[in-house]
Amino acid sequence: MPSTTHEDSWRESDKEIKEQLGLLEAYADATSDWYWEQDDSFRFTKFVGSDAEYQRFSLSSLIGKRRWELDIYPTENCKLQDHINDCTSHRPFRNFEYEVIGSNGNTRCFSISGVPLFDDQGKFTGYRGIGTDISDLHQNRVERKKHETRLNQVIKRIPIAGFAIDTEHKITDWNATCEHLTGLASTEVTGTRTGWKGFYLEPRPLLADLVVDNAPDNTFKHYYGNHYRRSTLIEDAYEAEGYFPNILGGCWLLFTATPLKDEEGSVIGAVETFHDISHQKKQEQQILRQAHFDSLTNLPNRFLALDRLTMLLNEATRNQTKVAVLLLDLDQFKKVNDSLGHDVGDNLLIECAHRLEENIRSGDAIARLGGDEFIVIINNVNTVEEVEIIGRNLLKKFREVFKFEGRDLLLTASVGISLSPDDGDDPQVLLRNAELAMYHAKEVGRNMCQFFSQRMNAGVTRRLQLEEQLHSALEKGELYVHYQPVVEISTGQIEGAEALLRWNNPKLGQVSPEEFIPIAEQSGLIMPIGYFVLSEALWFAHRWQQKKKFQLNVAVNLSPLQLRDKKLIARVEAELTRYSLPGDRLKLEITEGVLLGNQEHVTQSIKALKALGISLSMDDFGTGYSSLSYLRKYPFNIVKIDRSFIQEFETDATAPALINATIAMAHSLGLEVVAEGVETQTQFDYLKLNKCNYIQGYFFSKPLAEDAFWDLKDLPI
Ligand code: C2E
Ligand code: MG
Ligand code: MG
Repeated sequence: MPSTTHEDSWRESDKEIKEQLGLLEAYADATSDWYWEQDDSFRFTKFVGSDAEYQRFSLSSLIGKRRWELDIYPTENCKLQDHINDCTSHRPFRNFEYEVIGSNGNTRCFSISGVPLFDDQGKFTGYRGIGTDISDLHQNRVERKKHETRLNQVIKRIPIAGFAIDTEHKITDWNATCEHLTGLASTEVTGTRTGWKGFYLEPRPLLADLVVDNAPDNTFKHYYGNHYRRSTLIEDAYEAEGYFPNILGGCWLLFTATPLKDEEGSVIGAVETFHDISHQKKQEQQILRQAHFDSLTNLPNRFLALDRLTMLLNEATRNQTKVAVLLLDLDQFKKVNDSLGHDVGDNLLIECAHRLEENIRSGDAIARLGGDEFIVIINNVNTVEEVEIIGRNLLKKFREVFKFEGRDLLLTASVGISLSPDDGDDPQVLLRNAELAMYHAKEVGRNMCQFFSQRMNAGVTRRLQLEEQLHSALEKGELYVHYQPVVEISTGQIEGAEALLRWNNPKLGQVSPEEFIPIAEQSGLIMPIGYFVLSEALWFAHRWQQKKKFQLNVAVNLSPLQLRDKKLIARVEAELTRYSLPGDRLKLEITEGVLLGNQEHVTQSIKALKALGISLSMDDFGTGYSSLSYLRKYPFNIVKIDRSFIQEFETDATAPALINATIAMAHSLGLEVVAEGVETQTQFDYLKLNKCNYIQGYFFSKPLAEDAFWDLKDLPI
């Protein structure tokens, strides 16, 4: 019986084993795991479960092999030598990972756990354990690792400086550009709250710190003043800018910080980027400067001047003091520009700005309003006398010679003054009234100061009216030409005529050319008007020839602007052709001012005019510079002695001698002389005696309309 009992118990345990194996198989079938066994030399003896064709990788083909005899590719977690050591020391092991290549070339990754087995005597008999295919997990891990590396590289290498902090305000990232800009290494700040060291000398929150804390508006304001704003580009983001004297030798940085959030939307930190906006700032400041300062003289411009004036006026009202506005305009500055060129003009304006700057008190302000107009604002004025002294002193400074390229220039200025509150308490009104006073100073004789008075309004209104009306005068046929005969003294014959422009306006009546020609020149209207006169005059000469059958020369005044016109020669030539007149029938009168600059194109124009046979007259000789050198240097044919000289003949004892000398000098240079403004017999006789060639003046005839001119008779000699 005992054998039966033994057999029974054997059967029992066999059944138990089979049941357990069955359970194991069932478990292995239900999962993708497998069960394995090894003998005492670590050779596989059994696989249960996914043995057959697991993912086309035959586990059973491994029977008889040791694990480390397989083609193992170590994964990151594979520590093969540790595993071998564990096995040979008969220690259990868990989650040993390795990659193998199956017969079909597929790579699989396994995770294996095993326990050593011992018999009753404690002798090692092998291992058993389970294996799991973790290929997918492994693949995911590899991908994630790659992704992380890429992301790290992007953060690290992106050429935008940036850093990130966590909710504890510790730096988690600090990229290479950030290192470069701040000079602070990532290793120094990562994990600390000392990111501020990259920017500031003292600890203070960075923009990202405020963003992580979801700080209220006034906290942002406290740290960044008005230099912060909500980003218009990125939701949740804040922007702030600041100047950092210690970074890159002083630069402006623009920061953008935005919260970092997890999948649920909870804030887990903040990221902040920044970049150098110094260039942009510089441009902004430049634009701001251009809007407020005059680029030539660097003085504040009209805009800033009015701003300052408004401020000072408010202050003056509070303190019950006065503010004076001095408007300074250079006298005949246009002449400088016209004759010496714009470079000299510009330099002169710069020098004027210096003189003003040097001669004002520290609390006062100056500005350039445009052109040759400057404004001086005087603060804290108590009496009118104070201002008058300042004004006179400025004029004195302007009378000192200006030196340019070895040339001495004399320049004067006219100053108009208005005072608050009597002449207005509004900046615009004060400025306008100072301007009126300035125009008045010019009218009265220049080089002086004038205080504003209500009476001045009328005078300026006229100037504005003239300007307005002149614009349409040509079009409306209000302009016409009169002719003043020029008589040859020796024969008494009418030799020619000077064309003199006239303007009759329905509103303003008859306006003198002395009044409107300067306005026409300033506005550029002199160009069309000047060519109109030329055309009229040549037409007159043409009809004279047709009617009277003898030649008459016409003299036309040429404005400096016209002489600088590139089309001048072509136009003159075209007009001559149009009326079939030879060039020697035309005389062009210019004043010497135009020659001062010694400009090449003026010289060229004069040469070209001469080549057409045209005569050149120097007009108004005796006024202005009266430089003999111009008479010698340029090919003039005629000198016209200014009428002011002739008219002083009887009153000024030196006048006859001067007239005489001028005639002699002109003759010695081979030039003929016309005396202008001859009104009396005495004048005529003296001129005749001194061999003046021609006269022009009321003594013979006033400028006449064409019809009246035809009835003129020669002067009986
Ligand atoms: P101007 O070229 O010196 O012309 C001579 C001026 O003297 C004329 O003044 C003429 O009327 C005036 N006059 C002539 N004889 C006498 C006299 O015996 N006594 C007095 N008191 N005056 C006399 P007007 O016509 O008023 O012209 C003034 C200036 O206007 C001219 O001086 C000339 O510089 C300018 N002008 C006139 N027409 C033109 C023009 O078509 N183009 C340009 N650019 N300027 C012109
Ligand atoms: Mg003239
Ligand atoms: Mg003249």
